[in-house]
Amino acid sequence: MNIHEYQAKELLAKFGAPVPAGHAALTVAEAVEAAKKLPGPLYVVKAQIHAGGRGKGKFKELGPDAKGGVRLARTLEEVEAAAKDMLGNTLVTIQTGPAGKQVNRLYVTDGVDIEKEFYLALLVDRATGRIAIVASTEGGMDIETVAHDTPEKIHTITVDPATGIQPHHGRRVAAALGLSGDLAKQAAKVTGALYKAFLGTDASQIEINPLAIAGGQIQVLDAKVGFDGNALFRHPDLMELRDETEEDPAELEASKYDLAYIKLDGDIGCMVNGAGLAMATMDIIKLNGMFPANFLDVGGGASKEKVTAAFKIILSDPAVKGILVNIFGGIMRCDIIAEGIVAAAKEVNLAVPLVVRLEGTNVQQGKDILASSGLAIVPADDLGDAAKKIVAEVKKVG
Ligand code: ADP
Ligand code: MG
Repeated sequence: MNIHEYQAKELLAKFGAPVPAGHAALTVAEAVEAAKKLPGPLYVVKAQIHAGGRGKGKFKELGPDAKGGVRLARTLEEVEAAAKDMLGNTLVTIQTGPAGKQVNRLYVTDGVDIEKEFYLALLVDRATGRIAIVASTEGGMDIETVAHDTPEKIHTITVDPATGIQPHHGRRVAAALGLSGDLAKQAAKVTGALYKAFLGTDASQIEINPLAIAGGQIQVLDAKVGFDGNALFRHPDLMELRDETEEDPAELEASKYDLAYIKLDGDIGCMVNGAGLAMATMDIIKLNGMFPANFLDVGGGASKEKVTAAFKIILSDPAVKGILVNIFGGIMRCDIIAEGIVAAAKEVNLAVPLVVRLEGTNVQQGKDILASSGLAIVPADDLGDAAKKIVAEVKKVG
């Protein structure tokens, strides 16, 4: 689960991270009120969406010369104008994809005079099984580009969970950022605060880009925080920070049924059990010249209700021109799955071609149920056969 910048900053401030003052706003009037509570004379109005690259982003509704989603304002009038430009409009950044994201919330914060920008992030490093601190002098930039072009400028320091964060970790971060003296001490302190926040909230990611020197102080100017969904039950307070308008409606619906669903750009809807089989199914669709419309893993215990929900979610995507069901009946028997597929196909009034490949326990009974259902279900014998058939069926319909 991800949260907005303003929520992340409030959270990190509680753990002792140095964050400039700021207030969230849902309307233009609230944005002006928020600015009035700040000392000024420089304000920053920031679009709150769950995506980075806002500063360099563009609003769909405004011209190509209009400014992006992070704007400096020197007067309350400028704050008002920036808020009017952003609220309700669609911000497209390198992280949102071409559709962009509608801006429904703003954050109005103290503008600071930046001397230098750094990058500092904490994440779980699966290779070492530790929390890794990633530090770079190349702040305020797209970190993927830095990692690609100048990997030597990225320093990774891992923390042994048995010892936890130690003073030497902070010193190494400061050294990686090229800091000495009091600034080095401040950077070390920030590192400690972020580590405490990471553990205390079961975070999966804390990214500060930029961490800046401004007014002789180290300050957190942007913050992206994500939490481990499996640990959220331990943090009811964090769960309240969830902004469902930021999530894909189909993915949200899928999460209610415990389905692992990710929307993709292709034409073939996929319903599969097991993530590995789902990946293989997507690959073989591509091999046959079309693209998957989604990743969907219905899981091991796919009930009729789950299968129906999965069908509805797949069909809610207008791009879907055909569905490929690829289920391995292991714990679940193929006949039960076939009954679920038939019931679901009838219930949702299926209007696109459906190819079903079943394998495993009671496979013959399953195939018989599909064949006698009276539905135009195309049976397939194996994965290759299934992919060929769905591509052919979709092309036939045109
Ligand atoms: P994003 O990463 O989504 O573009 P940031 O919050 O990083 O958004 O803002 C983009 C840039 O705007 C920063 O790299 C920084 O240079 C500037 N900026 C952000 N916050 C402030 C602030 N409070 N005062 C001055 N400049 C800021
Ligand atoms: Mg940023």
